[in-house]
Amino acid sequence: MEQLANTTNGHASVGVYICHCGTNIAGVVDVAAVAEYAATLPGVTVARDYKYMCSDPGQELIKQDIRELGLNRIVVAACSPHLHEKTFRTAAQNAGLNPYLVQMVNIREHDSWVHTDHAMATSKAKDLVRAAVRRVRLHTPLDRKRVAIHPDVVVVGGGIAGIHAALTMAEAGKHVYLIEREPTIGGHMAMFDKTFPTLDCAACILTPKMTAVKAHPNITLWTMSEVTQVDGYVGNFKVTVRHKPRYIIEDACIGCLECIAACVFKEGRTPDEFNMGLGKRKPVYIPFPQAVPQLVTIDPDTCIEFKTGKCKKTCVEVCAERKAIDFQQKETFDTVEAGSIIMATGFQIFDAKRVPYYGYGSYPNVYTALEVERLVNASGPTGGEVLLRNGRKPRTVGVVHCVGSRDVNTNRYCSRVCCMYSLKLAHLIKEHTDAEVYNCYIDMRTPGKSFEEFYCRIAEEGVNFIRGKVADIYPEDGGTGRLIMQVEDTLVNYIRKIPVDMVVLSVGLEARHDAHEVRRRFNLSCTNEGFFLERHPKLAPVSTFTDGIFLAGCCQGPKDIPDTVAQAGAAAAECLSLIDRQFVEMEPNTAVVNEDECSACRTCVPMCPYSAIGVREDTKKAWVNEALCKGCGTCVAACPSGSIRQNLFEDEEILEEIEGVLA
Ligand SMILES: Cc1cc2nc3c(=O)[nH]c(=O)nc-3n(C[C@H](O)[C@H](O)[C@H](O)COP(=O)(O)OP(=O)(O)OC[C@H]3O[C@@H](n4cnc5c(N)ncnc54)[C@H](O)[C@@H]3O)c2cc1C
Repeated sequence: MEQLANTTNGHASVGVYICHCGTNIAGVVDVAAVAEYAATLPGVTVARDYKYMCSDPGQELIKQDIRELGLNRIVVAACSPHLHEKTFRTAAQNAGLNPYLVQMVNIREHDSWVHTDHAMATSKAKDLVRAAVRRVRLHTPLDRKRVAIHPDVVVVGGGIAGIHAALTMAEAGKHVYLIEREPTIGGHMAMFDKTFPTLDCAACILTPKMTAVKAHPNITLWTMSEVTQVDGYVGNFKVTVRHKPRYIIEDACIGCLECIAACVFKEGRTPDEFNMGLGKRKPVYIPFPQAVPQLVTIDPDTCIEFKTGKCKKTCVEVCAERKAIDFQQKETFDTVEAGSIIMATGFQIFDAKRVPYYGYGSYPNVYTALEVERLVNASGPTGGEVLLRNGRKPRTVGVVHCVGSRDVNTNRYCSRVCCMYSLKLAHLIKEHTDAEVYNCYIDMRTPGKSFEEFYCRIAEEGVNFIRGKVADIYPEDGGTGRLIMQVEDTLVNYIRKIPVDMVVLSVGLEARHDAHEVRRRFNLSCTNEGFFLERHPKLAPVSTFTDGIFLAGCCQGPKDIPDTVAQAGAAAAECLSLIDRQFVEMEPNTAVVNEDECSACRTCVPMCPYSAIGVREDTKKAWVNEALCKGCGTCVAACPSGSIRQNLFEDEEILEEIEGVLA
């Protein structure tokens, strides 16, 4: 470490600190030469290089120099400001200096990591440091603003992710609004019979949590509801929720289900959504016996009273005492305030019709995995019997892995759960039918606790495994009703044509069809595939780029139930840590409108991606809501009259930096 002194120029007294970052920077850049050069720059009082500036001793050097040498500006040349800008600002602040009088220079990602020529890299580091020294001299002290946080939380989506997050928050004493668009909570998990790898009963572990949600005094559960508008910002969201009519007065209905029995339809005629259309339901129905809330719903599209107005209304007759049925119900709206939001809107399965050569929708005995989940379920349409469409039990069943996953024509990504649920279904089908089962897979992916052991167990049970992608499925000649599953067995290099009675397509997990609409409403980013984007894949996996909004479960990407629950717990913990702080500090790098110069043209208003610009009612001039502004600079660039400036990115600062680089 070397210390070099220089004279100060009147006002600015700059300290420059060059980090070695071990050999990350020092292996390419001559850090001592850069420090020596920096010491000669106008305004620089001291320049040092040190092995790890971010370490405690490194920070201590800066603090000591501020106190002892009276430094009033700091430049740190190290890694990306994403990683350590906060570290060095805090160090400066602890030594009594305004934290915004610190400027970082990225000589790692922008220099040593991308250049091999040591002399050139050193020269570039000197240029960047010179530019920062010239810029930092123009910095002015800025203050962070504190905004109080509303303690309530909104959780959107009532699958296992939303349920777990809501219960965790409620147990910690926070009030939660759990908003679910369907008549019941439970999501996909409520449709399963057993769950891998333990094969425990899904309902037995899920329904106690569903009941706990309904019973919890800190949870307001709104089913048949969706968020229509989100205003505000971290700590102070205003969420507008639309409640669709259930045509049942929730406080009056006791879930006796007598109205279902009394309905003039003797049998259900409408394909039952919860059973994937494999069963039928009546116009007045409850999705499944353990639904929460335990309330019936009337479907206006199929109810005779809604269609003709001429029904005998036997449902109303049996409910005469409680008067819970209300055909006049209209949709209603509520607006709630919340400090943070957890998104848990889950996934949808891949539409198997998009792979036409597997014959889903054409051959009656080709099923999706989710349909088979309902067939093996005791509360499913067949009472737990796995039956072909003609009512017979299948004797041979083919399970096709990776339908709509790991395929350049559909989705390139692996859906993570299909290998495991295919093994589970192979086991359950064998258990229910004693059929010969053939699982055709590309690669068997079982990376989870007890997953590989589960695979071995299923193999020992006698399930046949064929390594190869199924190329075609077609009817067997001779009208046998069977199907031929054609697959290249890549382990023996042989094309197999396997006659099967039934095919199960292990469909992948996709973002919901309305994910883009929802993400726009909540101001979230998403991946190319439509899953909501986390702030950082490793370091902030449940946060989003919108402060105060967190992600849980499959809306962020395909995952199994253990990972979903873990992520929901993490999202709840992030929310709690935010709320319990009681306030948020806003970074001051926001745009500021000079209202005297603003021409009220409103060009900036639609340009702002964060809806942070408003127009004053009286003067019609623009103003920036600092709590919403993320400092992206779009409005500054767009303003025709140049009346918007941005803290920390003032024109003079940027121009001085450019001139410094070019000098
Ligand atoms: C066939 C199959 C079998 C599986 N078997 C297993 C297994 O055995 N073990 C295992 O660990 N994993 C299994 N999985 C994976 C498991 O389904 C997921 O890990 C889990 O369901 C993810 O839960 P979630 O809450 O994120 O999403 P979901 O279960 O999809 O729940 C999301 C909820 O949000 C609601 N919602 C959506 N959009 C909105 C909106 N805009 N407003 C309000 N509400 C909304 C939905 O109605 C739904 O209730 C299986 C998956 C499939 C496809």
